[in-house]
Amino acid sequence: MYAQIIIEYPVKSLDKCFTYVIPKQFLDTIKIGMKVKVPFGKSILNGIVIDINNNKPDYEMKEIISLEDSENFLNEEQLSIGKYLQEETLCTLITAYQTMLPSALKIKDQKTDYNKYEEFVVMDDEYACEEYIKMHPRAFKQIEILELLKNDKIPKRMIDNNIVKVFKNNKLIKIVKEQKYRINIIDILNKELTLNEEQQIAFDEVQKQINEYNVFLLQGVTGSGKTEVYMHLISEVIKNGKTAIVLVPEICLTTQTVQRFYDRFGSSVAIFHSGLSKGEKHDEYQKILRDEVKIVVGTRSSIFVPLKNLGIIIIDEEHSDTYKQESIPRYDAIEVAKFRAKYHDIPLILASATPSLEAKARAGKRVYKLLTLTKRTNNMKLPEVQIVDMTQEVSKKNFIFSETLKDKIIERLTNQEQIILLLNRRGFSTYITCGNCGYTYKCPNCDITLTYHKTSNNLRCHYCGYSIKKDDSCPNCQGNSLNYLGLGTQKLEEELNKLYPEAKIIRMDQDTTSKKGSYQRIIDDFADGKYDILLGTQMISKGLDFKNVTLVGIINADTSLNIPDFRANEKTFDLLYQTSGRAGRNIKPGEVIIQTFNPDNETLNFVKNNDYEGFYKYEMDIRHKLKYPPYTYIATINIKSSDYEEAGKSANQIKNYLSHHLSTASIIYGPTPAAIFRINNIYNFQIIIKYTFDNRLHESLKQIDANYITNNKVNIEITFNPSHF
Ligand code: ADP
Ligand code: ZN
Repeated sequence: MYAQIIIEYPVKSLDKCFTYVIPKQFLDTIKIGMKVKVPFGKSILNGIVIDINNNKPDYEMKEIISLEDSENFLNEEQLSIGKYLQEETLCTLITAYQTMLPSALKIKDQKTDYNKYEEFVVMDDEYACEEYIKMHPRAFKQIEILELLKNDKIPKRMIDNNIVKVFKNNKLIKIVKEQKYRINIIDILNKELTLNEEQQIAFDEVQKQINEYNVFLLQGVTGSGKTEVYMHLISEVIKNGKTAIVLVPEICLTTQTVQRFYDRFGSSVAIFHSGLSKGEKHDEYQKILRDEVKIVVGTRSSIFVPLKNLGIIIIDEEHSDTYKQESIPRYDAIEVAKFRAKYHDIPLILASATPSLEAKARAGKRVYKLLTLTKRTNNMKLPEVQIVDMTQEVSKKNFIFSETLKDKIIERLTNQEQIILLLNRRGFSTYITCGNCGYTYKCPNCDITLTYHKTSNNLRCHYCGYSIKKDDSCPNCQGNSLNYLGLGTQKLEEELNKLYPEAKIIRMDQDTTSKKGSYQRIIDDFADGKYDILLGTQMISKGLDFKNVTLVGIINADTSLNIPDFRANEKTFDLLYQTSGRAGRNIKPGEVIIQTFNPDNETLNFVKNNDYEGFYKYEMDIRHKLKYPPYTYIATINIKSSDYEEAGKSANQIKNYLSHHLSTASIIYGPTPAAIFRINNIYNFQIIIKYTFDNRLHESLKQIDANYITNNKVNIEITFNPSHF
């Protein structure tokens, strides 16, 4: 018998199966999906068995050296997901499989044992124990332990070391090692809430078709109880002996969601997010492989977990661009979810208060089934939103806070209610420039200004990591007019402290949440009322549910309207609408202040009126006129090289090739320099293709990709439906 094996070496030129002889001793144990070691050229490499058959190739074969970990191999479904990713994103098959495994299980570091163990003391010889007790009637402590050991094992760390030693010497006990999971959930389960009428209708609709493939769009205003609906559906699925995957955006944003799942489903839940250690990921993955959990709640890559017998997939905050991976393989978790839902014949639920235009349009065409929740639970009202014209305020020397916002903040501080302030930083950075000569700190490797970090007094490039200390005077003209431009969260915090010295303020941004657990701590402390004001970036916009927040202030609504991206309006609407949704989630009504220099901007006014449907119509009209998604699809080709000439030449060749091979209905733009033309001294040209239906597109792009496999000067990146470009 022979095995078809792919080699763990993610280069395109090796993206194919190699045939190896299966030695006799492995014939019984080898399985498709298993990891193996094989000789390759002069080295020994890891590989994955893709097929086992009798087809003898006409070249001389080598033998498989060894089989690896037998507990963890790729199952049939995973193997097919890998092939799907290879085809759809044009990545190598091995990259696809590597992506599907958590890092602790990647083939490379099989050597380390990530299991964590705990030592237990167990009784070895009951007769000897009885004898010992008789002989030492006054050794009360020892007797107590031995009595306990008759019934159960005891963790070794709980018994005095000397006693353990004596017991062991007398052969009374044994020490055993057991694996201990790093995340242990104690089952204290909350009861299910009774669904309200709207929720019940949504629930029934899905439940009716629980054994069919369907995509549902669950559109519900913030606080309408979407989470509750899918927790009920999950209960249902589990009752039928099946399992569920729930995807959430960067989990750090949604610790509260995870807690709700623990409260409802306890130890049946495994979680995955980037904040877990390698060991924790390893443990959670083992719980899945051993069928010990029924629900996985996690970020994007959790869509790949090998839960058997899937019964439902739920994607929360469906519109979030975190579901698209921007590095290889450039996959969209929603598309992978569709693949899996079809594979199992089960429902896929996409949930959002602000569905992506793509999803909403599909619901409009009945490709997705629409479920709506129009009211907040407990009759909470959506917050009152007020737009404040900052052009008027600047003349009053109010650059950061308008009079209105200041008044409202004082009001809340007096009433001991809480406040959330959002500093919209999308497409925005805090850079430094000299007021004298106009000198700006720029990254020497990338076409981008450096960002100032006050705590460390240095300037950093957020693309390549370059960093330098800030000078006291301008490095160009030696003057001392180096100004801080742009408003950062640190600066905002300083200003707040000046204005409200009494207020307790906590800041949430990348700097304050980089340490493990710090995000959770900020959330908990704020929820406990230890702070009056939570100020932060986009991080605070989603999923959080604080009962005592009655005011949300958006300091600068404009910044994301101006970014050069056809989704700028949509992203702004989502951000502001979602952030507004943090206000008034309990009995006290909420209020939102949006500060802007464009008070007449349509998008902002749709936010003001809590009018998603209006925004949808308005924006669809623009997309239609400009032929943007959802009226078209987009694919981008990035042509990268450290050699400017080579990159440009290749870009033109590709453009030429496309013009000859694509259907005439597809529109090709470029090549143009990409949004950031140079990163880490690599030049980046971009070609954009807009298409509706083009049956030649996929093949043509595949061909272009193939043409550059062996080109080590120019690198090609192809992305279908990029989240931005
Ligand atoms: P969403 O996910 O739509 O933002 P949530 O599911 O977080 O909404 O619900 C908002 C709040 O309403 C939560 O505190 C939740 O416990 C509560 N809630 C949801 N459904 C019900 C219900 N049927 N009865 C009572 N309270 C509910
Ligand atoms: Zn840089």
